Amino acid sequence: MSQLELRTLRKEFTGGGEDIVAVDDVDLTLNDGEFLVLVGPSGCGKSTTLRMIAGLEPVTAGDVVIDGESVTDLEPRERDIAMVFQNYALYPHMTTRENIGFGLKMTTDLGTEERNRRVKEVAESLGIGELLDDYPKELSGGQQQRVALGRAIIRDPEVFLMDEPLSNLDAKLRTQMRTELKALQDDLGVTTVYVTHDQTEAMTMGDRIAILNHGELQQVGTPLECYHRPANRFVAGFIGAPSMNFLDVTSDGDRLTHRLFDYEVSADTARNIDEYDRVTMGIRPEDIRVVDGPDVQNPIEADVHLVEPLGDVSHVTLNVGEQRLTAAVPGGQTFERGEEVTLQFPEEHLHLFDASSGQALKNSSQSADEELAIHA
Ligand code: ATP
Repeated sequence: MSQLELRTLRKEFTGGGEDIVAVDDVDLTLNDGEFLVLVGPSGCGKSTTLRMIAGLEPVTAGDVVIDGESVTDLEPRERDIAMVFQNYALYPHMTTRENIGFGLKMTTDLGTEERNRRVKEVAESLGIGELLDDYPKELSGGQQQRVALGRAIIRDPEVFLMDEPLSNLDAKLRTQMRTELKALQDDLGVTTVYVTHDQTEAMTMGDRIAILNHGELQQVGTPLECYHRPANRFVAGFIGAPSMNFLDVTSDGDRLTHRLFDYEVSADTARNIDEYDRVTMGIRPEDIRVVDGPDVQNPIEADVHLVEPLGDVSHVTLNVGEQRLTAAVPGGQTFERGEEVTLQFPEEHLHLFDASSGQALKNSSQSADEELAIHA
């Protein structure tokens, strides 16, 4: 049971005479037993952050602190941390029993019998109790992943670090393992940092998520906070699938002007944007209304480019002038390609960002009472 703190953690690499700031002064505190997902696009510094926590990569500056004690200068094996890798890193010449028990053998003086008893217990809890005598090459991807997890769990560490542990599994198994892994972590209560580039994994697994871009922490919050109240345009576009739609407009007090439409905003919204001439409108696909009739507030004319029926919902790609938007509409609603439609962006669901900095100026009023933890 442990609290993990990253204090102004920084990593610079020098490559080809150029300095790369891979991790840019990240401050982050994980509560005891928390499952925190570190998410962001490829190259944003997720793995480097994890490797610094594990001690596999020296820090350029800053501190890794577990329960108030700095571990920054400790060797990896001296930190009470277990890591699960994307490629499982199992020993091919060892059976499941030996792979899971290997760490215990190296770090404790437990006898063979006690070691085997614990291995069996962990293997059974992971549903691989029948596979103790099998070698990795005889196991499926999902089974190998469970062995890798078993090897981490059996050490009963203060902190788990997981680097894209599900990415080698097929889509169905990944969804299943996602649920299992989250339940397992809940049961064990071990503080966990989980790295992924997959926003669905982040949303479904994290107690909180921390979003990185170019080595900088963009926002830390619960999945729903980050979804409804993104701190900036980057987070708004990264979290949610299909992605939020963006339209650049100019602002003139209570009116937003696009080449093809005007949008009048309420006095409340106008107050949020009164210092900004250029703003970006953001609207999530599920918040776009495709409406009939002339009496629509702030109508936006569009034509249907493509319809992707998914059953309960359809994703409709729309042209607003040159720009493509995506709307998610109830599966029963049908559209023809090329059909002219009228869209409405309900103001309560509208997001507005400063067009130059990307900073959020107004978010969806849904969950407006939720506490925000914005690190921008
Ligand atoms: P991915 O999801 O693709 O693994 P990531 O978010 O984990 O990406 P990192 O692997 O942490 O990103 O890399 C962050 C940045 O640091 C990238 O620009 C990468 O090219 C750079 N980098 C990582 N390791 C090194 C290294 N050993 N030498 C030089 N640059 C490095």
